[in-house]
Amino acid sequence: MRVGILGGGQLARMMAEAGGPMGLSFQFLDPSAQACAGDLGALHVGPWDDPDGLELLAACDRVTCDFENVPAAVLADLAARTRVHPPPAAFAAAQDRLVEKRLLEQLGIPIAPVASVSTRPDLLAAVEEIGYPCVLKTRRLGYDGKGQAVLYSHEDLEPAWQALGGRDLILECFIDFKHECALTAVRSGDGEIRCYPLSRTVHQRGVLRLAAGMHQPPPALLEQAETSVSALLEHLDYVGCLSLEFFSTEDGLIANEYAPRPHNSAHWTIEGAVCSQFENHLRAVCGLPLGSTRRRGHSVMFNWLGDLPDAAAFLRVPGLAWHDYHKQPRPGRKLGHATLVADTLAELHAGLEAVRPLLDRETESLLEQLAL
Ligand code: AMP
Repeated sequence: MRVGILGGGQLARMMAEAGGPMGLSFQFLDPSAQACAGDLGALHVGPWDDPDGLELLAACDRVTCDFENVPAAVLADLAARTRVHPPPAAFAAAQDRLVEKRLLEQLGIPIAPVASVSTRPDLLAAVEEIGYPCVLKTRRLGYDGKGQAVLYSHEDLEPAWQALGGRDLILECFIDFKHECALTAVRSGDGEIRCYPLSRTVHQRGVLRLAAGMHQPPPALLEQAETSVSALLEHLDYVGCLSLEFFSTEDGLIANEYAPRPHNSAHWTIEGAVCSQFENHLRAVCGLPLGSTRRRGHSVMFNWLGDLPDAAAFLRVPGLAWHDYHKQPRPGRKLGHATLVADTLAELHAGLEAVRPLLDRETESLLEQLAL
């Protein structure tokens, strides 16, 4: 079976790594000639609506995405010519934070108080209603902490308004969370849903830095997360993997946003679960039986941003797996990750002690927040 992927970044690359052994071949469309998935399949370089590129994708048995901001018209066009999973409607909602929040709300999933902001008077009214601190975010194209600003007082309003382009924004209550977590689940074409263990996540300046499969989440927390994700998957008649990100508070989980694709918070499932999120995404997309989402031991994942540390030093640590995405270094860019897996918590702690001296100060200080 041939799978077409809109986007040729690291998610597409890891899908191809998972799909090769299942006999799948890949066609990628990406605007960049350096798209890193190109090592593992045919890469067509062109804009998202490139007619030749779309022709190549339409000729595939299935089409999926590694990028969630593919124009809706492109997905609709492809959906009329071949099987596209996840459904274009899942992308349309995820591409606009306001539509996304309203969808979550409609499904009874708790979200932070939020208001639509298109004008300066809207902003003043929203601040009046929500109070400080609050977060101003662009409705579209914000990711990894880009397109948002935390507001602490009236003095922050004008600079944030200017920086975010002064239109199509939302204002959201700042949530003083205990920690963040994400649930990844996969749904097959015949409606079967399998959830991965909850991932505990640590962000810094809006970017995911660390993730770990939670070994004993409080049952109420897990149930709330699984019920929320299942409601979303069913409402969207979704096929593939989806991750929903949450803030964990004293009063339970508050959903932030969902990603209609494999997600960074579940990269640890490559070594740390029986069937990884990438393999399960492809199994669902291709109409194959789903694999087990069961945890294998205990895992911690480290994201490498901006430059890659010395692989050889890390690979001396037993149970550590290395992923170099073959991308050109650029400040803040996700270039790879490492996952430490151990059979027992005691072995995980021993592994972390071996990893600790190899980490930069900032990453080491974040480890505490995983509360392992
Ligand atoms: P987002 O771009 O919405 O995924 O946000 C990226 C990260 O910024 C989140 O994972 C949080 O760490 C932080 N963040 C975003 N929105 C809020 C909020 N309303 N309250 C507190 N932290 C937030």
